[in-house]
This record gives sequence, structure tokens and C-alpha cells, in this order.
Amino acid sequence: MARYTDAVCKLCRREGQKLFLKGDRCFSDKCPFERRPYPPGDQGGKRRRLSKSSDFAVQLREKQKVRRIYGVMERQFRRYFAEASRQKGQTGTALLTLLERRLDNVVYRLGLADSRAQARQLVRHGHIAVNGRKVNIPSYMVKVGDTVQVRERQRQNGFFKYREEVLAEKTPPDWLQLNVESMSGIVLRFPEREHIDIPINEQLVVEYYSR
Ligand code: SF4
Repeated sequence: MARYTDAVCKLCRREGQKLFLKGDRCFSDKCPFERRPYPPGDQGGKRRRLSKSSDFAVQLREKQKVRRIYGVMERQFRRYFAEASRQKGQTGTALLTLLERRLDNVVYRLGLADSRAQARQLVRHGHIAVNGRKVNIPSYMVKVGDTVQVRERQRQNGFFKYREEVLAEKTPPDWLQLNVESMSGIVLRFPEREHIDIPINEQLVVEYYSR
């Protein structure tokens, strides 16, 4: 499965906005965007991009932001959009709900990982089970009532020992119920738009694909 492997902080600088892709580092003064809030290779923001404010450019950038936040490649993102378009209600909200239902996102939202990238790695390495069965597919779609859990054997390793302390201070979104002791979470319902705290305008993404 293809994935982006270059430095992710460049993506924030490219989008001109913090996308919070690196966990705690994003909230510290080590965040490169704080020091260099201009596009990579732009030498202090001297280069001008004349088309930056065209409708197309704005829609494109918004679509790229969503893709980058969730770590999804273009082809898969198009599939999510196609599925969202077939659903009732607002397509933009349906798209975000589909993205939120990805297993790697749920692991991140529960606080079992610092970032979606780290959550994806935990899933890929077989540390996570859904309803008691190992699932190593980050794009696996959770359903209402599913239990997402760190597998029993893996809970003894150093990473999850440390995670236990971190989890005690986490408050997951209210569509998920966290059980710190068993390092698990239940999907109570699918998130509404107001429960999805990402700084984007999904309507622009809909407009991008509706051209
Ligand atoms: Fe973006 Fe986080 Fe890197 Fe800052 S530390 S540039 S917010 S990914």
C-alpha cells in the first residue's frame, strides 16, 4: 500500500497551517511550522504564487489538507468521496464520518497513539484487535458497537505500559467510550460534524470533486 514517506512537517508548511500530524511535538516549541511558517523551498516566503487565491486552488488545498490529516492517498480518498456521495445527507459530513471510522483514526481518537501515523503503525504491526480478533488493516471501517482493543499479549510491552499513564489523562470524543484498564474502546455511535475537530471546510472538498 502506497503511503507518504517524506517529512510530514513539510505538509503543514506547504498548507500554511498546522495539521497536527506528529502528536505532542505539534504542541511544543519544536514544531517547525512555528519557526518557518512558509512553504518548503520558499526561502522565507519570497516566492509569489499568483494563482493561490483562485477557487480551484482554494478547493484543491482544502482537499489536500483533509487527505494529509487522515494520511490517505488520492485514489483511496476518491473512493471515500464516491461512497459519501451515495449516502443521504451532506456529502462533506458523510466523507468526514467515513474517514473518522477508519481503524487507525479510532485508535488515535481513543488516545492509544499520539498521532494517526503512529496509530497506523500499531495497527499494521498487529497490536490491535476489533471484537477480539486481530485486525492489521488501518483502513478497516469500524461499526457501531465494535470494541477496539490493544491485544492482551501486546499490553505488556513498554510502549503500552507508558500509554496506560497517558490514557488516564485522555478524554476521547463522546462517540467513543474508553476503558483505560482494558485499553479498549467501544464505538457508541458515528460522529456528527460538531464532534470532528479538524480545521477544514469540507464543502470546498465537495466543490473540488464536483467540478
Ligand atoms: Fe505540523 Fe506537527 Fe510538524 Fe508542527 S510538529 S509542523 S504541527 S506535523
